[in-house]
Amino acid sequence: MSRQPIRVGILGATGMVGQRFISLLDTNPWFEVTAVAASSRSAGKTYAEAANWLVSTDMPDAVRDLVVQPCAPGLDCDIVFSALPSKAARETEEAMAAAGYGVLSNASTHRMDLDVPLLIPEVNPDHLALIDVQRRNRGWDKGFVVTDPNCSTVGMTVPLKPLNDAFGVKRVIVVTMQALSGAGYPGVPSLDILDNVIPYIGGEEDKLVDEPRKLMGQFNAETGLIDMAGMRISPHCNRVAARDGHMEAMSVEIERTPSSAEEIIEVLEGFESLPYKLGCPSAVEQTIVVRREPDRPQTSRDRDAGNGMAVSVGRIRECEVFDYKFVVLSHNTIRGAAGGSILNAEIMAARGMI
Ligand code: NAP
Repeated sequence: MSRQPIRVGILGATGMVGQRFISLLDTNPWFEVTAVAASSRSAGKTYAEAANWLVSTDMPDAVRDLVVQPCAPGLDCDIVFSALPSKAARETEEAMAAAGYGVLSNASTHRMDLDVPLLIPEVNPDHLALIDVQRRNRGWDKGFVVTDPNCSTVGMTVPLKPLNDAFGVKRVIVVTMQALSGAGYPGVPSLDILDNVIPYIGGEEDKLVDEPRKLMGQFNAETGLIDMAGMRISPHCNRVAARDGHMEAMSVEIERTPSSAEEIIEVLEGFESLPYKLGCPSAVEQTIVVRREPDRPQTSRDRDAGNGMAVSVGRIRECEVFDYKFVVLSHNTIRGAAGGSILNAEIMAARGMI
């Protein structure tokens, strides 16, 4: 794309996901961070003063002296990436879109709204057609809200999509092992998680039941709605003492049983990335990386596959109860949050929508 970088703001710029946005956008040729916004605790301070920087690379010089703004219309940018908690997102994101900003959100608030695209660009780019419906429904001319899924939804849906297309997925049981950074900062108290696994993450399991069915659903041009995919999903969500990277053990029941695990591997490795073909800078050619070693993927070794944008799948084998089972790993604050949202913006830019 040969044009001036698109000017972007970040809502919730000081938080765990907000910092990922800052770090990833620093080297992104299509976007330039011109505004940062957070709560009243941070507004008025420079970004360097307000953010307790947790990313392992240094804070980019370009943002150090930006003054943190309130999360409200008036920001000096064309689109905003939202890394706000869901309650703050409800108050802010619609106001931003009504004021003409494109909003690319990580919050759960609008994900299941009937006229809001819930997007993984490799999985359901056609759902962007909902933006016209949304603008008609809400009387917005330029603004929009596009969401990316829950961080565990992304990891499970990326391999489910090609499997569903090839074999038809009927039922899924998924057990997650979710990293601490998924709870934001400061997150889970150390005395609750050291030497421990917590078998409950509030609100998480409902998201894993519904979001993949929307993502794998079909846009119906007649009704302007998404016809949800019919599969049934039973999740168990657990918090574990890893820093980054959500692992998920999945068992799937399918309609047409493949002849062998090799046929599954072929389908997964053959999954093509439209955003990569369109030249989106954050896209990777191989969205699904199949690991053939018996003990991979592992959280600390594989979460950065494809710069954190690939989903690793391993231990593919027959299931004693359903048909096949395997383990999935994805980086929750990159593929599952900031990187995913940036890729959403990139595919929209590549299609001339922003
Ligand atoms: P976080 O570390 O707690 O950061 C929250 C950010 O929002 C901070 O910048 C905070 O600003 C700001 N904020 C809080 N209350 C606000 C308010 N009332 N008005 C304006 N700004 C406010 O949370 P996070 O982990 O980055 O998560 C952000 C969002 O992304 C959440 O909706 C979360 O569910 C979603 N998400 C997170 C992950 C993940 O892996 N962490 C993955 C996918 C999606 P101050 O610093 O000024 O308090």
